[in-house]
Amino acid sequence: MTCTLWPQINKEEFRGVWVYLERDGNRLKDVGLELLGKARELAGKLGDVEVGAVLIAGTEEMAREAIYHGADKVVLVEGPHLDVYSPVEYGEAVAQVLSKYKPEIFLVGATKRGRELAPYVAALLTTGITADCTALDVEPETRDLLQIAPAFGGSQIVTIKTPQRRPQIATVRPSVFPKPPRDVGRKGEIAVERVEVRRRTRLLSAERRVGKDIADLPPVESADVVIGGGRGVGSAEGFKMLTELAKLLGGSLGATLTAVRAGWAPESRLIGQTGKVIRPKLYIAVGVSGAVQHLVGIIESKVIIAINPDPQAPIMNYADYAVVGDYREIIPLLIEELRNVKTRQPEPPSQK
Ligand SMILES: Cc1cc2nc3c(=O)[nH]c(=O)nc-3n(C[C@H](O)[C@H](O)[C@H](O)COP(=O)(O)OP(=O)(O)OC[C@H]3O[C@@H](n4cnc5c(N)ncnc54)[C@H](O)[C@@H]3O)c2cc1C
Repeated sequence: MTCTLWPQINKEEFRGVWVYLERDGNRLKDVGLELLGKARELAGKLGDVEVGAVLIAGTEEMAREAIYHGADKVVLVEGPHLDVYSPVEYGEAVAQVLSKYKPEIFLVGATKRGRELAPYVAALLTTGITADCTALDVEPETRDLLQIAPAFGGSQIVTIKTPQRRPQIATVRPSVFPKPPRDVGRKGEIAVERVEVRRRTRLLSAERRVGKDIADLPPVESADVVIGGGRGVGSAEGFKMLTELAKLLGGSLGATLTAVRAGWAPESRLIGQTGKVIRPKLYIAVGVSGAVQHLVGIIESKVIIAINPDPQAPIMNYADYAVVGDYREIIPLLIEELRNVKTRQPEPPSQK
């Protein structure tokens, strides 16, 4: 059923698979590049249609990076009121670009910003949206996007279609799809679009809410080593200890929902169904029970170490190394050992 108040559309006018490229300052966020890889695959199944990308207030260098990762065309969006991110002005700018280029599919990273931007765009374009897809495919006959996502608190996996409206909009969390290889030989088009959006919001001030130590660590989705803390860590002090371990290992810090709700780690560090999906080489779960909503975010880790006094905790079944014990005894030993390794001087060569 389609709302009778919505404007009629001709689905045949919509072609191509497009991606929203989110910036982190002067850098493209990995999730946009990951989505370009998936977009290429879907575009191939739809008869080699165009893979496009929308980048607001970005640079040509960033646009080229997107082309190296699979985009055929990147639209650099410029205009007044786009200097600082706001879902209202950015949403309007994206909607204007999509109205002009008419892609049949539009993919957005389910980051904090993507999660607020995508529904805003969908509402402006009177189309549907599926949040937090874990897999995507297409039905070549109908050109419908198969949007596969957990539902009902994660107890079911459902496939959602948007058969009547275009573009079909879906969000996908970071690290769900692998980043495609960077091919500097790829060629593509960079188009500049100037949009006029009304200023309807004004940023009065911005401040970082998280402890500086944790904020200084790399993002959880891009680190090779991640220490994940849960309720068993028990305090913000305990998280400081985990932060120190993360630093010594050159890694990052993540947290369970319980730990985030306790205020020990910021939401950007949340791993799992409502947080981020990670694929590090090493994940160390500290004071984490291993609830299914957390496991879905860590299961792709190459090696999992769990530190927990409860040998029956579910996480122990998924751990390559299960350390049964109190983290307050184990982590300080690890930290001390790593500090020693860092300060130990190499032995001078023996003189014969
Ligand atoms: C719709 C929905 C979405 C959700 N999304 C997420 C999500 O994205 N991410 C997420 O993490 N959760 C999510 N949850 C919550 C999830 O179900 C669990 O409640 C949560 O993951 C449990 O967190 P925890 O392991 O920190 O705490 P607990 O389950 O309470 O486990 C604490 C563990 O710490 C151990 N422990 C205690 N003392 C120590 C010690 N001194 N040293 C070492 N270990 C110790 C205990 O033995 C225990 O195993 C979601 C839930 C719902 C319903």
